[in-house]
Amino acid sequence: MHVRDGAGALAERLSRLIGPRASVARAVLEQHGRSESYHPALAPDIVVFPETTAEVAEIVRLCAAAGMPIVPYGAGTSLEGNAAAAAGGACIDFARMNKVLAVHGSDMDVVVQPGITRKQLNAQLRDTGLFFPIDPGADASIGGMTSTRASGTMAVRYGTMKDNVLALEVVLADGRVIRTAKRARKSAAGYDLTRLFVGAEGTLGVITEITLKLHPVPPAISAATCSFPGLHAAVDAAIALIQSAIPAARIELVDEVMMRGINAYSGLGYAEAPTLFLEFHGTEAAVAEQAQIAEAITTEHGGHGFAWAKAAEDRSRLWHARDNTLYAGLGLRPGARAVITDVCVPISRLAECLTETRRDADSHGFVAPIVGHVGDGNFHMLILIDPDDASELAGAKALQGRMVARAVAMDGTCTGEHGVGLGKIDYLTDELGEAVAVMRSVKAALDPSGLLNPGKIFAGADP
Ligand SMILES: Cc1cc2nc3c(=O)[nH]c(=O)nc-3n(C[C@H](O)[C@H](O)[C@H](O)COP(=O)(O)OP(=O)(O)OC[C@H]3O[C@@H](n4cnc5c(N)ncnc54)[C@H](O)[C@@H]3O)c2cc1C
Repeated sequence: MHVRDGAGALAERLSRLIGPRASVARAVLEQHGRSESYHPALAPDIVVFPETTAEVAEIVRLCAAAGMPIVPYGAGTSLEGNAAAAAGGACIDFARMNKVLAVHGSDMDVVVQPGITRKQLNAQLRDTGLFFPIDPGADASIGGMTSTRASGTMAVRYGTMKDNVLALEVVLADGRVIRTAKRARKSAAGYDLTRLFVGAEGTLGVITEITLKLHPVPPAISAATCSFPGLHAAVDAAIALIQSAIPAARIELVDEVMMRGINAYSGLGYAEAPTLFLEFHGTEAAVAEQAQIAEAITTEHGGHGFAWAKAAEDRSRLWHARDNTLYAGLGLRPGARAVITDVCVPISRLAECLTETRRDADSHGFVAPIVGHVGDGNFHMLILIDPDDASELAGAKALQGRMVARAVAMDGTCTGEHGVGLGKIDYLTDELGEAVAVMRSVKAALDPSGLLNPGKIFAGADP
């Protein structure tokens, strides 16, 4: 593996700072360059595992002095090459900064270090009667989720990371440490720097502390699946559910191709038809009423085979099947990698966008299962390709390009939740025009040397 000029000297300085918590072992470097998607592995030159904000600030100062790129790293589950070291440099892995720093039960908030994963956080909150609901399927870190503005299955009820982060502590490119806000539920104090760093993919600063909103654990939960004669009917039912003002906690769509994958992967016997996965949270009485209304609405739209899961283990089996759709989808074509798409459109255009996309993929002969957070108008098609066949990759990217153009023409976006990373760079200007130039100005102001996660969000990220 080639070690870039200056990386050896920097590695020595970092080792002096944090000892064995700096690694240049080949396996460690390679592990930090890989992603779950089709993007090529891009390894850093060194990986550091800080334990305090002061250490992070010193690491950033040392890297800045050496002109070395800095790539923050959470759990490495992002899907657009967001944490790949496109220009090498130092990867800051937050695995050892994974503590809950304070739980404020009466205020329903929590202060955490960025490396804690969402499952670790909820395990530690277990006795408080509170939970953190944002669920991207993978056991991602809170720092990574903040930095990709993640959402997932429960956003339809609880919002995305942008709605649930109250304040941040951030190390800037020059090593200064700032706080973006206090813990107050609302504030009109100047520019909203919290929102600026949420979704910045580590390109504007390194997050070292996060204050999150918490929510009461619902006293009753019930989940259900229901299949439909076609995608259109399933989406119409989802829209009707939302318009009925039922506060559904999850409304997830899985198409017939993905249902085939789920059955094979999880050994289940669901109908291989477009299917809604639903969940309701509330009191016993409220959940029972919501379930009754939901069943009536879905039946009206041609839904059948409504199957309820009230017991915790039945619900967990159901959501386990849904959460593993990436691996279930990949199982439809052994050895394949996935080009993972992530468009989001106003919900009134969703059925049209979905059915046109399905037709486009089928007519080009791709195995391409679809899964969607349809309550938000967001869906993913996994375009399965042979990673060694350049023409398949080109065909998949062309299909993705048409899908994004279709979504943007419908007033939607190229990425509802995965971020831009390496994979959506080409689409940003078509979607946002001159606003991208303003983003570049913000980048230039906060990271004038272009050292923070370079190569992401913009082509040639150096300002
Ligand atoms: C099976 C599967 C299902 C998924 N489903 C969803 C889904 O439904 N919804 C969804 O939103 N996502 C989903 N994802 C994607 C992924 O889980 C999210 O993008 C997640 O937010 C990434 O978190 P992470 O800790 O793995 O971050 P990483 O991959 O480690 O990093 C992601 C980005 O955040 C930056 N970063 C990390 N930590 C910091 C920090 N402390 N300071 C500054 N920048 C930082 C990195 O530099 C990088 O740009 C899924 C992934 C998988 C594998």
